[in-house]
Amino acid sequence: MGGPTLFAQTGGRKTHKVVRGDTLGSIAARHGVTLTALKLANGLRSDRIFAGQVLIIPGGDATSVLANVINATEGLKIERGRWRYVVAHHSGIEAGNARSYGAGHLRRGMENGLAYDFVIGNGRDSGDGEIEIGPRWLKQLDGGHVRNAFYNAHGIGICLVGNFEKRRPGPRQMASFTALVDWLRDKAPLGARPKFTVHRWVDKKNTVCPGRYFPYAAMKRRYG
Ligand SMILES: [Zn+2]
Repeated sequence: MGGPTLFAQTGGRKTHKVVRGDTLGSIAARHGVTLTALKLANGLRSDRIFAGQVLIIPGGDATSVLANVINATEGLKIERGRWRYVVAHHSGIEAGNARSYGAGHLRRGMENGLAYDFVIGNGRDSGDGEIEIGPRWLKQLDGGHVRNAFYNAHGIGICLVGNFEKRRPGPRQMASFTALVDWLRDKAPLGARPKFTVHRWVDKKNTVCPGRYFPYAAMKRRYG
């Protein structure tokens, strides 16, 4: 999903200004909405769009942010009971997205690329609250997001873009994070209810991830 994408809030409505290279499908995927919903919201009868056109992004609720995750997960063969944990991470830097982190992990010798299953954007190199799906989730591979092999095999890695040693995660990021974890625990076809944890509890003493400003206590209260 390359190319710059502009986000704007107009009158409480999320919009997208079309740039060269955009397609309705790529815009729908990027914003986590279905193609049908996007066309309906803009009264489009064909798939034709033009640079400079401003499209209304429908929804903005938890369901639409999760649409691409739900769609992508539908066709997967998931081993029942395998995923026992959700492990929260921060990226530690403000720049980047699933693609750039994946390239970095490949360079570091991780043959399966992006170590996380999901990356939640901060609005800089992907949408604010956008949930990107990594190839490991799509292929149901072990993660590479912690040192502990058991947790890589049984933990779903979710990375929020940003350095939460320096700031709190944004409200849209956290809304997407909780929507995703709620869905994974209650609705996803996992055959188990994964427990919530954070990287520093898995790899004790090796990391501060996901950072001191990640709302650990609130998440622990929410997920028990
Ligand atoms: Zn981490």
